Amino acid sequence: MSDQPRIPPQPGIMDISLYQGGAAHIAGQDNVIKLSSNENPYGASEKAREAAIRAAHQMHRYPNTDHAALREAIAEIHGLDPDRIICGAGSDEVLQFAAQCFAGPGDEIIMTEHGFSMYPILTRAAGATPVVVPERQRKVDVDAILNAVTAKTRIVFLTNPGNPTGTLLPEAGLRRLVSGLPDDVLLVHDGAYTEFIDGEFRLDFDLADTFPNLMATRTFSKIYGLGGLRIGWGYAQRSLIDVLNRVRQPFNLSVVQLAAAEAAMRDRAHVTRCQAENARWRGWLREALQNLGIDCDESHANFVLARFSDEATATACDEALKADGVIVRKVAGYGLPNCLRITIGDESSCRRVAHVVGLFMAERGLEKEDQI
Ligand SMILES: *Cc1c(COP(=O)(O)O)cnc(C)c1O
Repeated sequence: MSDQPRIPPQPGIMDISLYQGGAAHIAGQDNVIKLSSNENPYGASEKAREAAIRAAHQMHRYPNTDHAALREAIAEIHGLDPDRIICGAGSDEVLQFAAQCFAGPGDEIIMTEHGFSMYPILTRAAGATPVVVPERQRKVDVDAILNAVTAKTRIVFLTNPGNPTGTLLPEAGLRRLVSGLPDDVLLVHDGAYTEFIDGEFRLDFDLADTFPNLMATRTFSKIYGLGGLRIGWGYAQRSLIDVLNRVRQPFNLSVVQLAAAEAAMRDRAHVTRCQAENARWRGWLREALQNLGIDCDESHANFVLARFSDEATATACDEALKADGVIVRKVAGYGLPNCLRITIGDESSCRRVAHVVGLFMAERGLEKEDQI
């Protein structure tokens, strides 16, 4: 039997490498701490959970197709126009709408070196070609993106703050990028981690008012703690949203998803608390790692990227953490083989990470001394 499918798939489909999710289990360990998928350690808002349970009584009913109540809640909280919002099964689905609507065979989609691993998948699924541009010291390089634009470019996918880098493209850089792109190239500003930036970030919403070729996306999977439910959204000018809505399946969000997301959006106290706890322990963990001699950029997200001297050390530290029941993310697939991405957990998780990494580095130091 050959692995070749009998029915030839569309161009690009067989070039897709399957997405690797963060590990969730360690063989033989029950009490694991999962810090591999940037999930919210405090879980979802209690109000969201209650709303989901109430909505479960309506499971036999089809959901609304227009997501009006959820879009209204998002618009109210963020000061946006509800008619310019589109909701998807995770922001991944909104990104997919963009790729499907605006790119096809022969077209190019630009993404950065350490960009989100869904971008090449969505690009190839649309039959288009991914064009990967370098970053500079793990930061988005606006000139590299602008220089990579050709007549075939249809979309630029930008994660800001970056995943897995955690770095932020400053306002001037983002303005220069969107101003420098041709009118017929869509800039997707993937803001999955914007809620973790200190202070309110709404630059991408504001830019979407001026630039018809910019779409901002947000997710309920990270700060809202609803990754298991799959809800995200995009904001752009109405003409663009109108295009995307044509490929959106009418029932893409269930009654449970819609109810939970709306309640989560309105529970600002939960968001504020998660934001504050994350900022506190993110700073603490970065400092702890730096004190151990491990490089770590300032992060604007809910994880830090620990940079070891080489890949072997990163791998050995990953093993040491695993042996202690802590799962973090190896990011060699993102072009960062000497790094581990560590989600900011609660206080005890952060302390445990620092403790285990500290023991690991001390042991390494002794081994090195032995060799001298
Ligand atoms: C987690 C993440 C998302 C969110 O994906 P969902 O489909 O909304 O769960 C989007 N972009 C990036 C870069 C992410 O890390």
